[in-house]
Amino acid sequence: MMYRWATRAGRPPCIVGAVSTESRTLRFRAILGPGGLERDRSIEIAPDGTILAIRAVRDGDGPCGGGLAVPGMPNAHSHIFQCALAGFGEAARGDDSFWSWRRAMYRFANSITPEQLFDIARHGYARMLRAGFTHVVEFHYLHHGQNGVRGPQTTQAVLAAAADVGLPISLLPVYYRTAGFDGAAPHAGQRRFAHDSVDDFMATVEALGPAAAGVAPHSLRAVPAADLAELVAGVDATLGREAPLHIHISEQEREVEECLAARGRTPVDLLADTVELGSRWSLVHATHATQAERARLRSAGARVVLCPITEAHLGDGIFPAREHFLAGGAAAAGSDANVRISPIEEARQLEYGQRLRDRRRARLATEAGAGSVVWSWLAEGGGEAAATPAGPAGPRRMGRIEPGYRADFVVLDREGPHTRGHDWETLMDAWLVGGDERDIEAVYVGGERRVERGSPAGEAEIRSAFGKAMREIRRVL
Ligand SMILES: [Zn+2]
Repeated sequence: MMYRWATRAGRPPCIVGAVSTESRTLRFRAILGPGGLERDRSIEIAPDGTILAIRAVRDGDGPCGGGLAVPGMPNAHSHIFQCALAGFGEAARGDDSFWSWRRAMYRFANSITPEQLFDIARHGYARMLRAGFTHVVEFHYLHHGQNGVRGPQTTQAVLAAAADVGLPISLLPVYYRTAGFDGAAPHAGQRRFAHDSVDDFMATVEALGPAAAGVAPHSLRAVPAADLAELVAGVDATLGREAPLHIHISEQEREVEECLAARGRTPVDLLADTVELGSRWSLVHATHATQAERARLRSAGARVVLCPITEAHLGDGIFPAREHFLAGGAAAAGSDANVRISPIEEARQLEYGQRLRDRRRARLATEAGAGSVVWSWLAEGGGEAAATPAGPAGPRRMGRIEPGYRADFVVLDREGPHTRGHDWETLMDAWLVGGDERDIEAVYVGGERRVERGSPAGEAEIRSAFGKAMREIRRVL
């Protein structure tokens, strides 16, 4: 069977620029480097898209890439199919919780076809790129066809969608075995996610070849502790000992209580007692991790992946980000359920959540301001969450503007609706509190200018295909 995306030639016009074969230099009026703002910098970029050198501008440097270049934001956690669910399930029904939302998500997940998934994913990934996400870590659990029929079509649809819009992707196949801490078998709504055993799952991972960047045990409720160690051993043997491992953890208080009742420990402790928790681990949410658990994950070199918009949307709670930040913890940002796709709004929700909790201002800030500090913190953590050993896919260090890192930039100017009147020093604060993608002048991935301000014609086709998929999907929601 031939899928229609397999025959689609070329890239949509929202992606601009051709792949270079020689090194080149871009000039910016300012960059946000690891040490803060630097004025008038030239960035030399290798043909493979890696930053070679950064220095003060001199005569004869290449074309001006624009205003202020900040690191492209790696999106450390996405379930792309869920962006089609945004706005459904908002009416009050009396039992409105994470768990009732999850039931609606299952109904939807069981009905979606690979063709619909492609159109939904392409629309979502194009929005990511335009909003300043320059890489996506896709926590992919929609493995099988409808009713659990095995086949690679849904995975291929996700990969093809990312390739079509030019967004680099780290696909993390998700291991999902049980419906809860009691070890019950997955129910009908979870059929497309589930595998029968670690061996069964690792066969799926192996079949993906280099397309699998790492692996994600879904959660402690979906993966028995006995399977976890076996899974990590399987990943070590198949993908190597540095391959990233991501897991949903301590998102809901009920989940923490069930874990404690069933296993006698809270989730992060259970995880750390079961596997070696190191820098390859990203703990998604960790909203209700205890203070001791947070200290434990920090000392192990693991990081949290915060998804502030989704956590607010689902009523999860507020992660104590200020304490984690002040203690030197690492954090990445994820768009998770993709109800709103915007890295700057994730940063804003994160900062504002802390302000509302503490009834104080500037919770994730230093004397340099809040915008550049929060953005750099999340970009760097996102780069670590998405990092993989060098391979055929090219350089995989990202999240900083520094030699050796992929040349991913979000370029802001002083002509945006929310940045006008600011100098380079306060521009990131203006963007944090009020801005959106309309303030973005350009987005670069691997040194290639992929998105420019405006609304190019290519988006119309992506939107129209998404609209068609949505009309079909409405029938089951
Ligand atoms: Zn998630």
